Amino acid sequence: MISVKHLDKHFNRGKKNSIHVLNDVSLDFPNKGLVVLLGPSGSGKTTLLNVIGGLDKVQKGQIDFFDHNISHYKSAIWDKIRTEEVGYIFQNYYLMPNLSVFDNVAFVLKMIGIQDKNEIETRVNYILKQVGMYRFRKKRSTQLSGGQQQRVAIARALVKNPKVIIADEPTGNLDSKNTLEIMNIVKSISANKLVVLVTHEKELASFYGDRIVEIKDGKIINDDQNTTLQDHAFSNDNTIYLKDLVEVSNLESKNLKASFYADSDEVLPTQVRLIIKK
Ligand code: ADP
Ligand code: MG
Repeated sequence: MISVKHLDKHFNRGKKNSIHVLNDVSLDFPNKGLVVLLGPSGSGKTTLLNVIGGLDKVQKGQIDFFDHNISHYKSAIWDKIRTEEVGYIFQNYYLMPNLSVFDNVAFVLKMIGIQDKNEIETRVNYILKQVGMYRFRKKRSTQLSGGQQQRVAIARALVKNPKVIIADEPTGNLDSKNTLEIMNIVKSISANKLVVLVTHEKELASFYGDRIVEIKDGKIINDDQNTTLQDHAFSNDNTIYLKDLVEVSNLESKNLKASFYADSDEVLPTQVRLIIKK
């Protein structure tokens, strides 16, 4: 389990432009699930996430990372743990432009000391298939769309099988279709791994988060399990009575007969994509 206690951090301490960016932050994280750090721009989300993921340091406080008690002065040990156990996903993807998709992901395995060519190939190809990027494996990252680049970045984060994935506004540069696709991948990762996700978008947090931690001015102002998520799952079950609803439209073609119901005949334009695999 990861836990942080009484984290405290200032930028420009003692100066006029001093910022108390983390103010006595304590949190325990579970071993799996999607924990969202939600707050407005400038509230300290990225700083907190970077501290949890070992990319930034605090001036006071304690960080426990599974069996390790990490203090700011043991940075060499923390570097090793971080390299092996934390997967990072950023808003700007940060792929290496001169490498192929395959090599961007393979690079991580080489970094943690895996040299066997067959093992690298098996693991990279497996993970690229999982994020739907296998057929692009020979392309350079500069030839990909934003959504595709983020999929590769997710593969890169996952390939070393880390204990935790940290994701800083991973859909910040994506359109709504790609946002849904990327978030669906992120959500499925969190079924058996801890994902800590930073966002300023409330809808995103309540649609996907298992737990929402709200941050403002470097302080935690709220920390709740997401109950709207359960409502959402509940509304998907079979307790809808079609007879109570208006049939808005009815489509029929060779392989598909579709009916569209709503609780009023004044519904907003709605787009549905239905994909059948196997
Ligand atoms: P968020 O991710 O919630 O937008 P950040 O953690 O990036 O917030 O930043 C919190 C505050 O700390 C902001 O006011 C930001 O300008 C400031 N800040 C972030 N990084 C630095 C830095 N390296 N030096 C000085 N101030 C910083
Ligand atoms: Mg940020």
